[in-house]
Amino acid sequence: MGGSLAGLLAAHVVAGHADRVTVVERDRFPDGTGSRPGVPQGRHPHVLLQGGQVALESLLPGFLAELRAAGAPRVGMPSDMVMWQNGRWFRRLTATTHIYTGSRVQLEDLVRRRVLANPVISVVEGTDAVGLLGDASRVRGVLLRDRSGGAGAEHRALEADLVVDASGSGTKAPQWLAAIGAETPYEETIDTGLAYASRVYRGRKGVLDGETLGYYVYPGPDQVHGGGALPLEDGSHLVIVSGLRGDEPPTGDDEFETYTKRLQHPLLDRWLEDAEPLSPAFGYRRTANIRRRYDLPGRRPAGFLATGDALCTFNPIYGQGMAIAAMTAVALRGALADRRRTPTTRRVQQVLLAASRQAWDISAGADRKMPGAVGTAVADGPADRVADWYLRRVMERSPGDPVVGRAFRSVLTLSAPVTALFAPPVARAVLFTPPGPTPTEPPATPEEPGG
Ligand SMILES: Cc1cc2nc3c(=O)[nH]c(=O)nc-3n(C[C@H](O)[C@H](O)[C@H](O)COP(=O)(O)OP(=O)(O)OC[C@H]3O[C@@H](n4cnc5c(N)ncnc54)[C@H](O)[C@@H]3O)c2cc1C
Repeated sequence: MGGSLAGLLAAHVVAGHADRVTVVERDRFPDGTGSRPGVPQGRHPHVLLQGGQVALESLLPGFLAELRAAGAPRVGMPSDMVMWQNGRWFRRLTATTHIYTGSRVQLEDLVRRRVLANPVISVVEGTDAVGLLGDASRVRGVLLRDRSGGAGAEHRALEADLVVDASGSGTKAPQWLAAIGAETPYEETIDTGLAYASRVYRGRKGVLDGETLGYYVYPGPDQVHGGGALPLEDGSHLVIVSGLRGDEPPTGDDEFETYTKRLQHPLLDRWLEDAEPLSPAFGYRRTANIRRRYDLPGRRPAGFLATGDALCTFNPIYGQGMAIAAMTAVALRGALADRRRTPTTRRVQQVLLAASRQAWDISAGADRKMPGAVGTAVADGPADRVADWYLRRVMERSPGDPVVGRAFRSVLTLSAPVTALFAPPVARAVLFTPPGPTPTEPPATPEEPGG
């Protein structure tokens, strides 16, 4: 259920074990790279983190070369970006990781073409999943409704041995499970009320050219407004601003540019004065972290799995969801291929959730500290407070210290475990060395290697 990134990648993996895989998708897929209503977030920046790159390449060999050939910008961190966080500009040291910043629609189009080339996989487009078949012990398929027939259209049954929910953060699967007598998952939530607005611009001059590919001001508890500009595949930039509940960025075109003045430095403002807008401003407000605990004991049917945002949705500011959709598909592949253990529904669901644990710890851990955060999982314990103390020291050092910065980036981009922050050289710098000097103004050029 759901033919976006998580659904397509799950279908790709399951196809290795099934006679037939059917992807049920509410939208009709656009020809090429048009946007579609089922993925409204596609108009906002979508960076592909290193962990996601590795996973996508492993699932679809040659994918990164295709992405590059399609023009997706590959941005070195921190060398190619001007970045600010917690009162400090980052030194533009030699890149230790790269992100892809091309449009979400382009990335999804490339994945879709690769996955749907498999003859085992077919798609039912323009069709809503509206319920589950089966009972509390086993799911036996999905109930479908053709959208062209309107709300009153007849339902039809699609029988299946395995149903995977990849219908995104707004999934109705918990209600559908309840309707067949099964238990709904406990939901952990943390909502900071973060709201986005994004608009495409073509810059005429200024800092965002030549050696500077992108700009980003990260929000934090002391400075809750964020924003920046990231390059797209056609040479334009996607400009984003963000704020918290009660002070959301407006989506009116004029007010959009006024809001950028809240960032603590006028760099983006100045760039926008000479930039040409190529799109309206679009807003986005559903940014809560939501984790659905299907892995916990309960009366749950065999033959039903949740993945992607339907399983675990992250505050998008951390740029993790696509990477986790791919990393979860890799975990699914491993669980289904493991000959030592029977892949029971519960065991596989645990493996899928484990694939998103680090991303959850990052976004939930940071969002708990944001002013006004609400939800079932906002409270922290004594262990969290010790971790917070250490992490604050990591963040103070990361903009200026190459060793701490490298480790922190590798964790944030999901390419190293959190334990990388406790490796001896990192821990020494974090515990015993004061934060190194950082630039007093946005650095216009990268530092020389070794500088
Ligand atoms: C504003 C914003 C910015 C983001 N930025 C980033 C980023 O920088 N980097 C990153 O990695 N991730 C980012 N994400 C997260 C990313 O968009 C998702 O994690 C990723 O798309 C994987 O989602 P998914 O496939 O699980 O669900 P979605 O992409 O939401 O897709 C769900 C699919 O299910 C379909 N569907 C829904 N209900 C039904 C139904 N009943 N029947 C049939 N089909 C149905 C929808 O049409 C859609 O195709 C961002 C998210 C948001 C909201």
